[in-house]
Amino acid sequence: MKRQKLVILGATGSIGVNTLDVAGRHPDRFEILALTAHSQTDRLFEQCCRFRPRYAVVPAADVAAQLESRLRQAGCGTSVLVGIDALEQVACLPDADAVMAAIVGAAGLRPTLAAVRAGKKVLLANKEALVMAGPVFMSEVARSGALLLPIDSEHNAIFQSLQNDISSSLEKKGVRRILLTASGGPFRNASLETLADVTPEQACAHPNWVMGRKISVDSATMMNKGLEVIEAHWLFGAARECIEVVVHPQSVIHSMVEYADGSVIAQLGNPDMRTPIAHALAYPERIEAGVEPLDLHRIGRLDFEPPDFSRFPCLRLAFEALERGGNAPTVLNAANEVAVEAFLGAGMPFMCIPMIIEETLAAVPQADVEDLPAVMAADATARETARRLVRKRCLQQA
Ligand code: NAD
Ligand code: MG
Repeated sequence: MKRQKLVILGATGSIGVNTLDVAGRHPDRFEILALTAHSQTDRLFEQCCRFRPRYAVVPAADVAAQLESRLRQAGCGTSVLVGIDALEQVACLPDADAVMAAIVGAAGLRPTLAAVRAGKKVLLANKEALVMAGPVFMSEVARSGALLLPIDSEHNAIFQSLQNDISSSLEKKGVRRILLTASGGPFRNASLETLADVTPEQACAHPNWVMGRKISVDSATMMNKGLEVIEAHWLFGAARECIEVVVHPQSVIHSMVEYADGSVIAQLGNPDMRTPIAHALAYPERIEAGVEPLDLHRIGRLDFEPPDFSRFPCLRLAFEALERGGNAPTVLNAANEVAVEAFLGAGMPFMCIPMIIEETLAAVPQADVEDLPAVMAADATARETARRLVRKRCLQQA
């Protein structure tokens, strides 16, 4: 069997580490061509020593020089490249078979788009890239013929429940609704009053999943589900009315598709990202992922609740941004990234996150985002506006 050559953007993060865990179980199938990281250079060093990629990418020249010399001493010939251009370069290496897009946030857009434009098999974890640039992203997929496989567990579940067929419209396939499940996050039962005082540590302690800090806060505000609603819209061509969010605290059903005849097809599994990662890596085959078998007797019951838009206004804002279209999802995503950073790093209260996003959406004029420069401009304006609103709020509190 010819081995698949993999590029992992964001190799040191939660998705990156899980991807290497799955790939490492199948050295006969996968070889690692390039790994990239933003901060955890020690972890990147260890990954390079084990997987011997041709390239590693880091953000700065001094870090690159240090890493390369450590790698030489360890007998590893990996070349270390620097910066955003290098991220794009490794994302479209001619002999790369698949690219795992696992950088967090808008920083992942350019390299992920480079992989799409090069017609690669793109394993999409970086939902923010798709949310901020939906129309540009999807038209590049159509133009290049890239194979886009969802890593987000819900979208991977929907893809599987659509029987791996996203070539025709949902209507043609007889799909009535997409039921996007949500765990409800760590504050599913918290009152509005207690939400006012939550700390970053509490927000990042997800009951079912271990993830990076940004997506953990997104899960706590339920913006993660909001971003996933928009992601589902673009990936599956689903209209807003066809997407329903169902809170399912056990995170065993990863999402469902309801058909015209009343059939509902779901994908189940333990909440372990190695399942969707293995599914996409081996697609259309199936491989072992190191995931524990699902023990339904131990789980005992599956619960479902409607989402509460008043305690989780971020979810409402995401639905509204999808309805408004144009630059609204770009603005939503950028304002959310700024607000989450202010919550994690600058002590901004948790419930200010939706306020900053709502005010930013109201302040940035509506516009179309039909090309990449328009997306980047909307992203920059929204960030600037959101930062100003954060400063104002933090000053008011001081
Ligand atoms: P993480 O914070 O653990 O890792 C992020 C990775 O991106 C790291 O390798 C980091 O070095 C790199 N990175 C960060 N900022 C960068 C920058 N400016 N430039 C280049 N690289 C940068 O995040 P994660 O939890 O692995 O999530 C990654 C993506 O996958 C996110 O978009 C998230 O929404 C999505 N996702 C994650 C999970 C999960 O279970 N963790 C599930 C579904 C989707
Ligand atoms: Mg998800």
